[in-house]
Amino acid sequence: MSRTALVTGASKGLGYQTVRLLGERGITAIVGARDEERGRSAARELGAPFVQIDVTDPVSVEAAAKWIEHEYETLDILVNNAGITVPHQDGLPSMATLADLRRVFETNVFGVVAVTTAMLPMLLRSEAGRIVNVSSDLGSMTRGLVPGTPQWAQNNLPYSASKAALNMVTVAFAKELWDTPVKVNAESPGFCATDINNFTGFRTAEQGAQVAVRLATLPAGGPTGGFFDADGEPIPW
Ligand code: NAP
Repeated sequence: MSRTALVTGASKGLGYQTVRLLGERGITAIVGARDEERGRSAARELGAPFVQIDVTDPVSVEAAAKWIEHEYETLDILVNNAGITVPHQDGLPSMATLADLRRVFETNVFGVVAVTTAMLPMLLRSEAGRIVNVSSDLGSMTRGLVPGTPQWAQNNLPYSASKAALNMVTVAFAKELWDTPVKVNAESPGFCATDINNFTGFRTAEQGAQVAVRLATLPAGGPTGGFFDADGEPIPW
């Protein structure tokens, strides 16, 4: 039987490419998108199923979980890809507003917790459940403290702090699920040309999506509770 995957934020960018690449592997990958029109249009192009899911809206998350359970019963893969940032505030954390911090955390952190919790009963029914959290090396505190690196230069407090928090969310769920087949990992796709950075990235969205696909299809002996780069190498926390 075909495996089933949910990719959040799949209307465009990395999420869209992740659905496409999972589909190429014979996996039924569902386009999860908050905007019905953009989501349905992406799903049509990809020949994939669609479910409306705004990760910041508990009613939408619950309805999406109910629909997936009704249609598929089991979920094998969850890619928590939906993410936002805010303008860079000239690189000054002291310029970041609490409103910006709250908005970014709602999507990048609380949204992941809400979706993971809602989908978990279905993931536990899978023989090989996989959860992939699309983080960023900007969430690496170790790399952020190395002067002269891009991670030092990009001192975007709301975004970087949200991804660091997401990394701990990854560890926390991995520990809860340690004795189950479900593996939970975070990854950094590299700097990819998508809307989130006005297409300034030097990697393609497809290259970025391959990182999620690798972790989504890990074999039974693969890692859990890790944070990996595009080459599959561990990133320091
Ligand atoms: P993108 O093209 O801007 O895509 C972001 C996606 O998230 C869109 O589909 C957007 O939907 C969706 N989204 C935003 N808020 C949502 C919500 N509340 N509920 C559901 N979906 C929501 O950016 P991307 O580069 O593909 O980003 C994907 C992930 O990769 C993000 O988590 C980002 O932080 C991470 N990442 C990207 C890079 C990079 O270089 N591109 C590097 C490191 C990490 P709408 O169409 O409705 O806006």
